[in-house]
Amino acid sequence: MAKGVLLIVCGPSGVGKTSLCDALLQARPRLDLSVSFTTRPRRGDEVDGESYHFVDDDTFEQMRREDKFAEWAQVHGNYYGTPTAVIEEAWASGRDVLFDIDYQGARQLKQRYPDATAVLVAPPDLETLEQRLRGRNTDSEEVIQQRLKAACHELAQYPLFDFVIENGEFDDAVEVLEAIYVASRHTRQLKMEWVEELLGAGC
Ligand code: 5GP
Repeated sequence: MAKGVLLIVCGPSGVGKTSLCDALLQARPRLDLSVSFTTRPRRGDEVDGESYHFVDDDTFEQMRREDKFAEWAQVHGNYYGTPTAVIEEAWASGRDVLFDIDYQGARQLKQRYPDATAVLVAPPDLETLEQRLRGRNTDSEEVIQQRLKAACHELAQYPLFDFVIENGEFDDAVEVLEAIYVASRHTRQLKMEWVEELLGAGC
């Protein structure tokens, strides 16, 4: 049974989901970011253990074989995985978890934890998405083209998701994401134990 909120946030590269997640984490201290393992090379200012745990292919494969991941996937040619321990530790300490992962991971987490809340972040239009990808200045032209192609495929996965947020105006999108998180704290599934206690106490 779910013991805390599992909030999955997906969206095409460049849609701004990481900024949205950062804003939500700032606003909601009870929520922890799940730090994934990846075989992707570290970008400029990334710190190991903060945005990701950076590992080589052999280490990732060994963790996968040892069933250490709640989900894992190959994304843009690199492997990414969510450690199951993150969820267990969060629930043991009464905390909620935010996952900034791709749709393949969202599908696996929803299968494993059906009460998880899955949110798809979409751009207002594809031109805006392209501008944002170029504005990041982190990826080569080849990578940008690869990511634009992937974007339509990712958006087509929308039936997997409970909510869709259009990230046009950033502040509006943050407000919607925060509202979804707050509502997710009050689902019947999460409140069941508490209501049962009320009933057991004399109703
Ligand atoms: P980036 O390398 O640009 O940080 O992330 C590339 C993509 O991989 C993003 O869509 C990101 O959300 C996704 N991603 C990051 N961590 C994980 C993970 O643990 N599992 C899955 N399935 N996707 C992830």
